[in-house]
Amino acid sequence: MQKKIITASSLVAILALGSCTSTQPPQQTQAATEQKQEETNPLLKEWTGPYGGVPAFDKMNLAELKPAMEKAMALNLTEIDAIANNPQPATFENTIEEMERAGDELGRVFTYYGIWSSNVSTPEFRKVQAELAPKISEFNSKISQNEKLFQRVKTVYENSKKNPLPEDQQRVVQLVYEGFAMEGADLSPEKKQRYAEINKELSSLYTDFSNNILADEEGYVVYFTKDQLGGLPESFVKAAAKAAADRGKEGQYAVTNTRSSIDQFLTYSDERALREKVWKNYYSRADNADENDNNENIKKILKLRNERVKLMGYDNYAQWRLQNRMAKTPEAAMDLMQAVWPAAVARAKEEIADMQQIANKTSKTKITIEPWDYRYYAEKVRQEKYDLNSDEVKQYLELGNLTDAIFFTAGELFNFKFTPVPEGSVPVFHEDVKVWEVTDKTTGQHIGLWYLDPFARQGKRSGAWATTYRAHTTFDGKKTVLSSNNSNFVKPAPGEPVLVSWDDAETFFHEFGHALHFLASNVKYPTLNSGVRDYTEFQSQLLERWLSTDKVINQFLKHYKTGEPMPKELVAKIEKASTFNQGFATTEFLASALMDMYFHMADPENLDPDKFERETLNKLGMPKEIVMRHRSPHFGHVFSGEGYATGYYGYLWADVLTSDAAEAFAEAPGEFYDAEVAARLVKYLFAPRNSMDPADAYRKFRGRDAKIDALMRDRGFPVPKPQSKK
Ligand SMILES: [Zn+2]
Repeated sequence: MQKKIITASSLVAILALGSCTSTQPPQQTQAATEQKQEETNPLLKEWTGPYGGVPAFDKMNLAELKPAMEKAMALNLTEIDAIANNPQPATFENTIEEMERAGDELGRVFTYYGIWSSNVSTPEFRKVQAELAPKISEFNSKISQNEKLFQRVKTVYENSKKNPLPEDQQRVVQLVYEGFAMEGADLSPEKKQRYAEINKELSSLYTDFSNNILADEEGYVVYFTKDQLGGLPESFVKAAAKAAADRGKEGQYAVTNTRSSIDQFLTYSDERALREKVWKNYYSRADNADENDNNENIKKILKLRNERVKLMGYDNYAQWRLQNRMAKTPEAAMDLMQAVWPAAVARAKEEIADMQQIANKTSKTKITIEPWDYRYYAEKVRQEKYDLNSDEVKQYLELGNLTDAIFFTAGELFNFKFTPVPEGSVPVFHEDVKVWEVTDKTTGQHIGLWYLDPFARQGKRSGAWATTYRAHTTFDGKKTVLSSNNSNFVKPAPGEPVLVSWDDAETFFHEFGHALHFLASNVKYPTLNSGVRDYTEFQSQLLERWLSTDKVINQFLKHYKTGEPMPKELVAKIEKASTFNQGFATTEFLASALMDMYFHMADPENLDPDKFERETLNKLGMPKEIVMRHRSPHFGHVFSGEGYATGYYGYLWADVLTSDAAEAFAEAPGEFYDAEVAARLVKYLFAPRNSMDPADAYRKFRGRDAKIDALMRDRGFPVPKPQSKK
């Protein structure tokens, strides 16, 4: 679900990377050597080839990363200094526009850095990453705390209040100015110094935090034998055999410690003791009181974050963070979560009672539902109450067909056409990655490329995400979009189809929604491509709704063997089951989202993360059969960077918008393919990205603010009275 946007030429985005350091000014001789490296280092080179140039993913050599990053940061600082020291009075053109223009080399290196970090990580890379982290942080600080630069930005900002600029320029100035102010640009020199030290420390902690999770994801594998396959679907068994063989255990089976793998195992395996072991490994990631334990890191992170925002006069981190989000305040976000929480927990208790009944009937020994039983008995309840067999559904969800389905949807809503690029014409970083060209269906105009990296492998982070290698801008000549989607589908044995769960199919649509959001951009300046955290998940969540439309079902959800479309009664069952397990899903999510907010509103002095997590959940009345979707020691969204810190609620915030916007389609004459609503969707909700205030953009699309009611209906929860608005 997570995604990141690295718009390198946008300072705001670079600052948002929030990492780290270095101190010595390069000496003459060093500079000369670096100059030479600039010409030969492939990671710095301008992208060449077709489609406006593409990253040279086939030329990635880790030895060149560190020098490339150092050189790119130095180049960017030179550009920034030139802007800051310009003797002319500050104007939009000589300050803001020049800033938007700066940092091309760094943007290119960051693209490769992102691939190493997310797609093809190795222990060697992690060493380089740890060395670079403090340097990147220092680099960021040098820009965010450049007094002369800030004064020029402030001048342009203040002048623009008297003499407004064109709308999009005005928005850029505002975002850049706020970005600086939020990063402490107005602080005294002493406070600025402390601020920079804090960021440097934090960036190293973030790297440690995520490396500890990855280490525990790779370090714990549960092996099992032929007599322990009960309940497991054929496809999982095959993949598990391969996973064991890949690790030198031919003839055995392996559950790896990643979400896709454990989700399936916990849903289907009849082996309760093994389920417990798999569950405990997964939910103890980075919480094993060993060298990969993250509890100390959480303490340090919370303290440093708190200290940093106090320097700027905020009460707590949450208050500082939410000021430029759609929610605006932690209280608004908390209000929404607390409005939904009681209904979610009440529904979870009903679900648990249903499961206990089945366990009483079917289990040989008397058991009480434990967290490692939840998915297993939920699946049994689903089969009994909804007669829905996830494995049967999977037969109709083949990855190739799903890919055609998302292309069809993009064609209907956005008028986009996807065509595979000629074999070998665009370099990729792994043989599994495939690339498509995106064009306008009517005019044939080139819009961009879409990369897909579908399969799980060692060194690839878990989950699914979308990113851009190049974002759309026009201010310096048109740049087309290089977008990518990344998943962790289990790679099948040769010749076998990739069959995915309904959830995974939804996620596939979701991530593609992010890609469409990148591809649809019509903004002029890089900064306007930046995302607003509690808004940017909305577009992608909305796109999930097209998976269950008739046109997609009838054309693309076809049985992988017979080619028959998914039968009407199976579709009806899926629809009926869509509110099933919402108690669990909403509770596990909200527990993480609430915890994220409580952590950042609490006094971090003497805070013991483990105890705080336990006590807060107790106070909330968390059902003991459910665990947070991300327990604190592996809550990477929140602690391995700042992107989602006090931002995890954003998924729910976005879900309110999603349900409400989906009803706009459902009520339209052409329903989900209504041309007029689709046109408004693209015009107000996708193409402008951050060039419009999200609340205004939504109002233009819907004719009013979003209401919570559609969300409660979608989840099968009672709609609260009186109608609440957000
Ligand atoms: Zn997402």
